[in-house]
Amino acid sequence: MSQLAERAPLFTDEMEGGLTLTLATEEATRCLLCFDAPCSQACPAGTDPGAFIRKLRFRNVTGAIRTIKTNNPFGWTCGAVCPTAQLCELACSRTQIDRPIQIGKIQRFIVEHGWNMGFSPIKKQAAAKGKIAVVGSGPAGLTCARELALSGYEVTVFEKKGLPGGNLRYGIPPFRLSEKGVEREINEIAALGVTIKTNTPIEGKDGLEKLKDQGFKAVFLSPGLWRPIRLGIEGSNLDGVMSATDFLGTLRGPDSDALAAKVKGKTVAVIGGGSVAMDTAQWAKKLGAKDIYVLYRRSYTEMPAEEKEKIQALNDGIHFLILTQPVKYNGNGTLKSIVCRRTRLGGPDDSGRRRPEEVPGSDFEMSFDMAIEALATQPEAELKDFEGITWNGALVSAEGESLRTSLPYVYAGGDIVRGPALVVEAVADGKRAAEAIVNHLEGKGE
Ligand SMILES: Cc1cc2nc3c(=O)[nH]c(=O)nc-3n(C[C@H](O)[C@H](O)[C@H](O)COP(=O)(O)OP(=O)(O)OC[C@H]3O[C@@H](n4cnc5c(N)ncnc54)[C@H](O)[C@@H]3O)c2cc1C
Ligand code: SF4
Repeated sequence: MSQLAERAPLFTDEMEGGLTLTLATEEATRCLLCFDAPCSQACPAGTDPGAFIRKLRFRNVTGAIRTIKTNNPFGWTCGAVCPTAQLCELACSRTQIDRPIQIGKIQRFIVEHGWNMGFSPIKKQAAAKGKIAVVGSGPAGLTCARELALSGYEVTVFEKKGLPGGNLRYGIPPFRLSEKGVEREINEIAALGVTIKTNTPIEGKDGLEKLKDQGFKAVFLSPGLWRPIRLGIEGSNLDGVMSATDFLGTLRGPDSDALAAKVKGKTVAVIGGGSVAMDTAQWAKKLGAKDIYVLYRRSYTEMPAEEKEKIQALNDGIHFLILTQPVKYNGNGTLKSIVCRRTRLGGPDDSGRRRPEEVPGSDFEMSFDMAIEALATQPEAELKDFEGITWNGALVSAEGESLRTSLPYVYAGGDIVRGPALVVEAVADGKRAAEAIVNHLEGKGE
């Protein structure tokens, strides 16, 4: 085996757990080479682990790289952040013998190995079929852009923020998803001729219409969910109280050092029980917070974060205050304490989870320097201005298969249609919408 082949992958420096070629190949050798591979059927984006693991097993490394990158422009990202235990690895037949194949780790390794080899399997196509616009440069938008560029269209992605990537850049922390790796996958897409215009929001009631007037034949709308839902309790405007969206986003921008200094040595409350709450708590920990408490109004079992995230947080010394509801932030300009109320679980709510009920007379107060609300997110208010778009409650309404909206030239996907979802689902939507757009524009029937 050559030294190059065994060299540690380049893109794992900020992240734990990368494989080497030997380890990845050994792991692939455990694969049962299933007919109609259940792992492949379980991948929402059609990354086809059954095929790339088979190729790796038989030492066809370039073939494995080609399979991943053809099927999923964010193959490396998905290898790093997909909840594989709920998707491909849950479906893996090998589980019935001992334990599933480590599909996510193999996937991430194969892509990194391709980068180390300087092998890029996807080639640029001539853009001769007309212009298409994409609104938002998250995984949904950039995937759609790449697929359309590969089909011969001239694609422009309009992005509101200063850098492309959506939640891959401003949400998921770099200790779980290295910025260098994300940049590499975005650069691969740009290298196919996709233009990404940052600091260029599409907004206003005629925002989409104007794109049409500029000659874009179709629009893919994928602006995600960037407006945090807040508790709205007394004291929310105190210094030290913020949303997780602001906390995570600020740490990726020019004010990161100032925020980091505010966290160091402090007692931090993170309010919420999902994956974003766990990421927020973990990042506060890495910044040197003295004590971190996750405040959650239901019980441990109802916390929506993945089990492994919760266990990791507990192992890292993050405290969980369950059945606890903040009711007031106290302080004089700056947060000093939080008044909390005990809750108990009642009957199931619309989501099927048991409803938290406040316990009268159970208020207690705890000292905190910071409170970070990691509740849900919803679409930015100005998106509702777009004329002709039908909404399904808080989300954009789009047809099941084609993802076409009520405006015939506009398709939509990713979190804006699904609600808070997964990177791999955003990739899946980008692929589906691109296919529907091509079929529509080229009269192939939908
Ligand atoms: C903290 C956090 C951790 C997560 N962890 C995971 C994980 O471990 N695994 C996983 O699979 N998923 C995870 N997710 C979810 C995942 O990141 C999202 O499901 C995914 O990014 C959605 O992709 P998207 O393309 O729909 O939108 P986004 O990634 O939100 O991108 C939308 C983009 O559109 C831009 N935009 C918004 N409005 C406009 C406008 N008017 N004009 C132009 N541009 C606009 C935004 O600035 C943004 O760049 C996490 C999310 C968060 C917040
Ligand atoms: S389900 Fe598991 S054992 Fe079967 S092909 Fe996929 S990775 Fe291999």
